[in-house]
Amino acid sequence: MSRSDVAAKLKEHGVLPTPQRLEVAAVLLERPQHLSADQLLEKLRAQGSRVSKATVYNTLNLFGECGLVKELTVDPSRKYYDSTTHAHHHFFHVETGKLSDIPANQVEILGLPQLPPGTEQESVEVLIRIRDKK
Ligand SMILES: [Zn+2]
Repeated sequence: MSRSDVAAKLKEHGVLPTPQRLEVAAVLLERPQHLSADQLLEKLRAQGSRVSKATVYNTLNLFGECGLVKELTVDPSRKYYDSTTHAHHHFFHVETGKLSDIPANQVEILGLPQLPPGTEQESVEVLIRIRDKK
């Protein structure tokens, strides 16, 4: 994705494309992937970027809030940012921490509980935790 495409994508989501936000978005939106804030920071550092850790965290929060990326909390200590925002499911490898996509049409949900009064369903996402066979 070119820099001007990244800028356009930010604007589409109501985000002002500052140089730092562009840097973060360019890395994350480069391809379909799931990155934690620390993994993203590592990639930025490897490119010689000097964006601070706090900026990366704040920027990712902002991107998550505006729907530019999807936030995935697989356990309370690990949050990932997904560059694929349409509905899909995930495998989560508990030993390696690796997330991989499962296309939405590969999971069939046969029954769901009645929703609490006054609510409507927004989405259903399945996380299948996996580990290597012993
Ligand atoms: Zn995903």
